[in-house]
Amino acid sequence: MSLAAAASPSSSRFLLPSTAARRRSLHHLLAAPAPPRPPQLRRCSPYHWMAQFWAEGSLEKNNALVEYLKQYGVVRTDKVAEVMETIDRALFVPEGFTPYTDSPMPIGYNATISAPHMHATCLELLKDYLQPGMHALDVGSGSGYLTACFAMMVGPEGRAVGIEHIPELVVASTENVERSAAAALMKDGSLSFHVSDGRLGWPDAAPYDAIHVGAAAPEIPRPLLEQLKPGGRMVIPVGTYSQDLQVIDKSADGSTSVRNDASVRYVPLTSRSAQLQDS
Ligand code: SAH
Repeated sequence: MSLAAAASPSSSRFLLPSTAARRRSLHHLLAAPAPPRPPQLRRCSPYHWMAQFWAEGSLEKNNALVEYLKQYGVVRTDKVAEVMETIDRALFVPEGFTPYTDSPMPIGYNATISAPHMHATCLELLKDYLQPGMHALDVGSGSGYLTACFAMMVGPEGRAVGIEHIPELVVASTENVERSAAAALMKDGSLSFHVSDGRLGWPDAAPYDAIHVGAAAPEIPRPLLEQLKPGGRMVIPVGTYSQDLQVIDKSADGSTSVRNDASVRYVPLTSRSAQLQDS
């Protein structure tokens, strides 16, 4: 496990924010009114109380996280800021973990919900391919967070499909979305999750304007390339130990161009049995 979707320090895009920026952001977060102390924690140490504070969901803290990502330079557009403010990350992070810190968190089954800066990076890369009415595929949907963001962006006339090969995660992601701002979109069918091997894509709603892969593939799976619409974009981590976040653009004539956006570290896109082997 521990194969977290964390950015490599070698990527200039992901340099840590300055100490001043971090202090400002921390100050902002801490300035949020503290929730009443739960009775069972009254006699606990300040550390336990702070852990509880960070673990509690609140839209104010979610907004503060987005503000932090703006200062960090990862959230660069209003469109991405708006969707990340609308979908509260706390609904997608298992209880007991801190949803608003910029790191991946375990969601079980050797999987993680990616770090907020990776979600923001992928949303920024794909935002022009997530216009109302467009089709988006999220391979390795895990917690369902990004699928929910995609659904909000493409709206009721579009399609957002999440593919995940662990059935329990599909159940969990469905429950997460039911409590989120994207619930109505799942009810009306424009957002759906399916248990399947994501390496095969999901032909039913193809071709896709946007394809996101949330796990690292040794090479780009051909079915995903085939299901990408001419004029569409795919964002996929490629590699095993050393991985690059690749951006693949398919032009109108069907030819493709590939560029590396950043060095990253994701869980592998693999078979279910290989993933669960050492769990
Ligand atoms: N974007 C997700 C990332 C989850 S981690 C989030 O932020 O929540 C990557 C996910 O890919 C895991 O849930 C893992 O179970 C899934 N995965 C790995 N290989 C897969 C495959 N072949 N088919 C479908 N899902 C896969």
